[in-house]
Amino acid sequence: MNKKTTISLTLAALLVLASCAKSSTGRNQITLFSNSELSKMGASSFEEMKEKEKISTNKAVNNYVQCVAKAITKNVPKSAHDGEWEVVVFDSEQVNAFALPGGKIGVYVGILKVAENQDQLGAIIGHEVGHVIERHSNERMSSNKLSQTTLAVVDGGMAAGNVENRELLMSGFGVLAKYGVLMPYGRTHESEADIVGQDLMAKSGFEPAAAITLWQNMAKVSNGAPPEFMSTHPSNKTRISQLTKHLPKSQVFYQASNAPNCVKPKNI
Ligand SMILES: [Zn+2]
Repeated sequence: MNKKTTISLTLAALLVLASCAKSSTGRNQITLFSNSELSKMGASSFEEMKEKEKISTNKAVNNYVQCVAKAITKNVPKSAHDGEWEVVVFDSEQVNAFALPGGKIGVYVGILKVAENQDQLGAIIGHEVGHVIERHSNERMSSNKLSQTTLAVVDGGMAAGNVENRELLMSGFGVLAKYGVLMPYGRTHESEADIVGQDLMAKSGFEPAAAITLWQNMAKVSNGAPPEFMSTHPSNKTRISQLTKHLPKSQVFYQASNAPNCVKPKNI
């Protein structure tokens, strides 16, 4: 490694140290983007979604989803999003939902068939908002940026030093960056969003045991092709047992909360 590479890597390490944060479950995080950058990106992705997908105009369905979302977002820390939340129901049979930084929530009509009641919908929205509270998209993008920067720095260093088999080394490094650094995030983030989401739904007056029933329902509908929500949110025994283990802690929040009364339309 030449001097220039060493200096670049040291600078990269300093940058990482300067942007270290902690998630609410005590995990160390690297977040290179500011909240306002993230909010802007979230808002523009949401605009794209709204142009691409058909928006539901069914009043009863919209009222139901708004009611559940409102109860959840009331309990989101101001540090995660300070302001109004925009909630849109997409008229699509996709079993899917998402939340984005900048206070954006999207719910697909298809997922309302899997979530049997307000508590299960509370579990879905709680989980999605949990990803936002814990800055998961910031981490994901920071991780991508770092691996690209590191690759560029290492590549530059090797080019300067005329290293033989450079191509081979680079492809090996790329695989490591993808599978060693990026991939495990998926499971870590899902697990964290489950726990944070279960507490959040309970604080918002939704029965936290419904998170367990929801994933059991998801497993049932995933016979055959998995719904979209499942393909990005792998369900397994570990997830259900983690939610079951955490349930007594969430129940404490639930006991102290007020249950909302969101009416699910009968024809869904
Ligand atoms: Zn998730």
